[in-house]
Amino acid sequence: MNLQSVKYVKSKRGKTLISIDGYTFCAQSVIGMKTRWICSTHNNKRCRASLHTFDNEIVKMKNDHNH
Ligand SMILES: [Zn+2]
Repeated sequence: MNLQSVKYVKSKRGKTLISIDGYTFCAQSVIGMKTRWICSTHNNKRCRASLHTFDNEIVKMKNDHNH
């Protein structure tokens, strides 16, 4: 997995997003140090791509977008 293009960015509303290859992911749930992120188009395009981070490192990723 090439993670060189992973960037943490801030949305206009001040939320933290993860940007990978032009796709952005927003935090959906946080449990302790583990965060689940879903593609930011999840709600309007029903994209199911998601990833998990633990202590700010990506531990699991399903980078499978429908757009
Ligand atoms: Zn997507």
